[in-house]
Amino acid sequence: MLSKKVLELSGQHSVIRDIFEFGMERAKEVGAENVFDFSIGNPSVPAPKEVDDTAVKYIQDGDPVAVHGYTSNAGIYEVRDAVAKSLNRRFSTDYRADNIFMTIGAAAAIGICFKSLVDGPEDEIITFAPYFPEYQVYAQGAGCKLTVIPAETDSFQIDFERLEAAISEHTKAVLINSPNNPSGAVYSEETIKRLAKLLETKQKEIGHSIYIISDEPYREIVYDGIKLPHIPSYYNNTLVCYSFSKSLSIPGERIGYIIAPSQAEDFDDLLAVFIAAGRLLSYVSVPALYQKVVGDCVDLTSDLSVYQANKDLFYHALIEMGYECVEPGGAFYLFPKALEPDANAFCERAKKYDLLMVPGDSFGCPGYVRISYCVPTERIEKALPLFQQLIDEYKE
Ligand code: PLP
Repeated sequence: MLSKKVLELSGQHSVIRDIFEFGMERAKEVGAENVFDFSIGNPSVPAPKEVDDTAVKYIQDGDPVAVHGYTSNAGIYEVRDAVAKSLNRRFSTDYRADNIFMTIGAAAAIGICFKSLVDGPEDEIITFAPYFPEYQVYAQGAGCKLTVIPAETDSFQIDFERLEAAISEHTKAVLINSPNNPSGAVYSEETIKRLAKLLETKQKEIGHSIYIISDEPYREIVYDGIKLPHIPSYYNNTLVCYSFSKSLSIPGERIGYIIAPSQAEDFDDLLAVFIAAGRLLSYVSVPALYQKVVGDCVDLTSDLSVYQANKDLFYHALIEMGYECVEPGGAFYLFPKALEPDANAFCERAKKYDLLMVPGDSFGCPGYVRISYCVPTERIEKALPLFQQLIDEYKE
């Protein structure tokens, strides 16, 4: 009786979750301090104190009906206005509340953008390997095809030749994710300008708009002074999907937003279409309490400095040992090459040392592994000798 499609999806386990569960079981056997679980991307630093204080303030002193009530589908006006003003301060833009649509995290933001653009199964969204595995599920939910451009493993930047060849009359959007999960790659201003130029040309050639969907949950986690280009400032038909999950360390509160710039071709219809797409996906309004909290805390972040420290320590140590890895510009992942062609076999061998990593196959990039370093720095320090033993085993 159950839906065949959904049954099939239920059989496709999340590899990341499976490894995480394995780590918890293993911890019961050998002690949590001896298991080095680098599988999952849960922020390791707490939310700023102001986040909890603000939530408590609203619960204690706020109107109890409003704090727990439905809000308008696009979100609370004052919160959207606060988000717009914060973006304007940072990116010299002129957003208003009308340009902001509150969502249940980046996941819902992306799902809503897909659903808003797609008409039928022949429509496609193009993205680049390595990519966040849930993109496949969002595409399935929207009923379209996700076309994946193979990874350019020298730098994990955009392979423009392959992208140009892939764009067709069925292309509705190009989905980018910078800083990237899992490679940590950040697209430079030059790359974004080139992408914008290519898509402008293709839009004219094909005769309909092609959107950039920019998935940006790691926007604030960038290293070594890198400046992230604000994509709508380079390309009008851009939809930005943002989440407070990583910047404020509140992934369980499920809150984010879409930026719909006024200069986008379909701007007049976008908010209404987002509401309708959300309804089709059964999203009706975003939790009011955390809308209010992020509205008040919009300019804050958790103490993200630990991620820079972890990246520096981990990346340089692995390179020194002889691992091959592109230096991340942001996010909190390393994506080194596995020490044998089959990354699954490599990850199994690493388990002998209780080092848990995720094979790159899940991200559309076989032969590589993802290491999440959103962990206390001492965990990395303790794991490094094991990475040395692992590589030594391959040298034997
Ligand atoms: N996009 C990327 C690249 C992610 O890594 C994640 C979560 O890890 C998401 C989207 C989903 O974000 P959220 O949990 O805020 O919905």
